[in-house]
Amino acid sequence: MEYEQIYQGNMVEIFRIADYFYFRRANLPVREQCNGAFIVSDTEVFIVDAPPGGIEMACEVENLFHKPLAGLFLTHGHTDHVNGLAPFLERELTVFCNYRLLSYLAPEDKKYRAHFIGVDGTLKLHLAGDVDVELRTLNDVAHSKGDMFVRIPKLGIICTGDCVVEPQTAYFHGADIRSWIYSLRKLADEKGKYVLAGHGPSLFPYSYIGEFADYLSVIEKCARICFMRFHPELLDRINEERFANVTTDEVKVLIEDFFSEGSQDVLFLEGKAGKEDARRTVRMVLWELIREWIR
Ligand SMILES: [Zn+2]
Repeated sequence: MEYEQIYQGNMVEIFRIADYFYFRRANLPVREQCNGAFIVSDTEVFIVDAPPGGIEMACEVENLFHKPLAGLFLTHGHTDHVNGLAPFLERELTVFCNYRLLSYLAPEDKKYRAHFIGVDGTLKLHLAGDVDVELRTLNDVAHSKGDMFVRIPKLGIICTGDCVVEPQTAYFHGADIRSWIYSLRKLADEKGKYVLAGHGPSLFPYSYIGEFADYLSVIEKCARICFMRFHPELLDRINEERFANVTTDEVKVLIEDFFSEGSQDVLFLEGKAGKEDARRTVRMVLWELIREWIR
């Protein structure tokens, strides 16, 4: 990455993208941390996401920027993005998240020093030093029910959380892949320069959003083919119960058979994510389709 590295430690690297925006590249396999960011105004600092051990980001803020930490923007509620939140809540700061996460992250019966703001739609913040931040939630479930994008319009950067990630880290539990693809296609049509993905080694060009939507579309197509092969006779909904009894072994065999055919879609997915993760992603989406059917 061509950006200046200003910090390295704890399997974390921090890069300066602009005076007011820093990319925090973290380690997922070992430390279970998502990527993050620092938004630095003239008077204070905001951080994007609170991964496990994320309170170290408060030290990073102090040591690198010498300004108080004013708040956090959470891209969604999965553990690798919010499990480090608790120690932040003992501080005087503001947590911005999708309003759907409020009852989960900030149950009413608990007391915090931190203040929560649930975002529903678009919220624009104007920070000291002419730094604009735009927070935006989606109407529907996409990667998760609590997705929120963090945009820095002046830089053309959007922090997408895990709505966009490097292919092998895509995660589908609780996702609605159709509306996810739809939301990404709409986003891809907007203007932008870079994507700060929830997981990945560097910033992606904005065009990666469209590429990632294409990738998801192929995963969805493959999962649907597997779903139909599983029980073609069930398409008339007569044997709903059968789906409730699907076993992990059955799914594994089916996916393996499907991949062994080596179709163009299979080769495409393996080329993007590698053999193992290509299978995992289709398997996860297939399970989501099965759950949807049982529901
Ligand atoms: Zn993640």
